[in-house]
Parts: sequence; C-alpha cells; structure tokens
Amino acid sequence: MTIPSTTRAAVTTSPGVVEVQELPIPSIDTDGGLLEVEAAGICGSDVKGLKKELPARVMGHENVGRVVALGEIARGRWGLTEGDRILIEEYLPCGHCRFCRSAEFRYCVTTDPTVSKTPMRYGTTGLEVGKGLWGGFSEYMYLHPNTVFHHVPEDASAVELSLALPIANGYEWAYEAAGAAPGKVVVIFGPGQQGLGGVIAASMAGASVVVVGLPRDRVRLDAAMTLGATRALVAGEDDIRAVVDGLTDGRGADAVVDCAAGDENTLPLAVDLLTKQGNLVVAARSPQKEIAFPMSLAAQKALHIKGMRGHSFGAVEWAIRLIGSKRAPLEVMTSVRASLSEVKEAIDGTGGAGPVPVIHAVVLPRGAGEKAGNP
Ligand SMILES: [Zn+2]
Ligand SMILES: [Zn+2]
Repeated sequence: MTIPSTTRAAVTTSPGVVEVQELPIPSIDTDGGLLEVEAAGICGSDVKGLKKELPARVMGHENVGRVVALGEIARGRWGLTEGDRILIEEYLPCGHCRFCRSAEFRYCVTTDPTVSKTPMRYGTTGLEVGKGLWGGFSEYMYLHPNTVFHHVPEDASAVELSLALPIANGYEWAYEAAGAAPGKVVVIFGPGQQGLGGVIAASMAGASVVVVGLPRDRVRLDAAMTLGATRALVAGEDDIRAVVDGLTDGRGADAVVDCAAGDENTLPLAVDLLTKQGNLVVAARSPQKEIAFPMSLAAQKALHIKGMRGHSFGAVEWAIRLIGSKRAPLEVMTSVRASLSEVKEAIDGTGGAGPVPVIHAVVLPRGAGEKAGNP
C-alpha cells in the first residue's frame, strides 16, 4: 500500500475552534502502525472535550479503520497484516501497572485524564506528543505500541461500528453492573448513546427497561422504544414512581442506572425508586464535587452503589458481535454523518445545539460513501 506523505485532519486548536489542516504522516516505528480511518464516532465527552483548555490535538476516540502500515515488531506482537480492519479503544495504557496486569487497563494512570495532566489517549493526546496523529478525525491515525484493538467483521457498517464503545458502556453498566435478567426491572436515566446501549443489552437479557429522559429527548425516547424499552418516560411530565410500582407490584426497581446527571436531580429519585438490595449504578459524573445524597435511606434499603467508568475489553467484544449480528435496529441511532470540515457542527449538535436532534454523529474523514468502507 502506498502511504501518502500528508493527511487531512480536523485539528482542535483552542477551545471551541476546529480547523482542517494538512499534517505530515509520521514515520512508522518498528513497534507501531498506521490506520486509515473509516469512521470516528462522537460522544458526549467530545462536547465537554471541545471546550477544554488543552494543547492542539486531533480529537476522535471511537475509531474504526484499516491497518495500512505496520512495523515488524508490531506485526508479530499484534498478529495483524496490512488491510486488516480493526476497531480501536480510546485507552493507551502503560501495559505493566496493576490495572493493566489485571485487565482493568481503563484505570491505568497513563491513560486516565482525571489523574494524568498529559494522558496518552486517542482523541485527547496533543499533536506535540510523539507521533502527533492521536485522533480519528483524520484520514490517518498513528497506532501506538500499546493500542487496544479489536477485529471487526468485514460486512459490518463502519457507521454502526463507530457505536461500539458507547454500546459497550451501556452493556457494562445496564446489564453487568445492574444485574439485568429475566423478571428484573431496570430504570435507565438518560437516553443518550450509552443509555440506549444499556436499553439494548438489558432488554436482550430479559429485563423490563424503563427509560427516563427530558422533554427535549423525545427522539431519543422513541429510539429507546424501538431498541427494546418497555416504557419511555419524560421527567417532570410522567409519574415515574407509578410506572415502576406498576411493573413491580410496588416493590421498586431492581436497578437504576444514572447516565444522565449523577446529581441531586437524579440520585435521590433513584434511591426512592429502588427496591431493597437494589443496584444503584452511577455512570454520570456531576461537575459539582459534593452533592447531597440520601445515604440514610440508601443504607436502610441496603443498596449496592456502584460508580462506573468506560468499558472492559469483553464489553467491546460484545458490542462488536451485536453490531455484526444486525439483531438491533441501530439505524435509529446513527442519524448524522459529518465530513472533516463539519466536525465542530457535529460535536455541537451532539451537545444539543443545532436544528437536528442528534443521537450519534459520526465523522467520515473521506466523506460519506467514498472510501469509507460500507457506511
Ligand atoms: Zn466516547
Ligand atoms: Zn497501566
């Protein structure tokens, strides 16, 4: 394969400013590689990320594409060849700390932006660090030696594959952590990408799923019903407690998954809705450091409180298998496709600005339908 000497990339130069630049493609080290990006998904963290005071960088952390160059050590270590189609996790963990050694590499300090000031992480690390091309909003991306990748089916759509990480989060939070199973009732606050991923996983596991959104979430709530939810409710309009009581003979929900706020608007309600020994899964993090929480009632109910971040390797594998199986009508989530010059609009749209309600936007660095595989 001929590798060009430059790539077009959407560079976030300062908070809220994204410009398309022609960047040099770096030399490929013997333990690294190069990915031709097919699709790069946008999630809620990009809305916050775009506003951050960080060095210039190429964002884009939900990436799928084809390997076009490999160093010899990488070829042997990864078992890949040029032309292989892979999906990349955002984490660039160190590979040897206790989190990495226990497969919980998402918590590795090296890749954790809440701990490290200079995290190694696709979509976050700056242009001035190492090979520079650390994000998927670019025709080509560098593959670091510690890349965490997954094989993906050839016939799966690149646009749908770009949903794998948010769906994996939903699987881990609303199925594994919530304990979804036949006969269980799982309430999910927040019908965003991850909440909807949770709807798919928990409903496939046999649970009844109640999704709660805001008045502006109507399109997302409709999507939740298409994806398997039992009820979709609007906070402040519908009587959530009455619906949960109706589904549980008044005993309360088996799990509440907060993908919405993690604050005083959601957590006291979650504690109220839960049954004794229920699972409170807190996946949303409030920007407030301290919040009032009804701990006495939570203890009285003997609740299990679990904080969640990101996804395990196995959860991503599940999401890829789901996408490859075509069992879920994922087209209700993939409404917006953007080119490199439309990255800022697509991120703003994901945050709720703009005329079209966005559930999941995806950037196709070569434009829709061209060399972008099978979008
Ligand atoms: Zn994300
Ligand atoms: Zn580590």
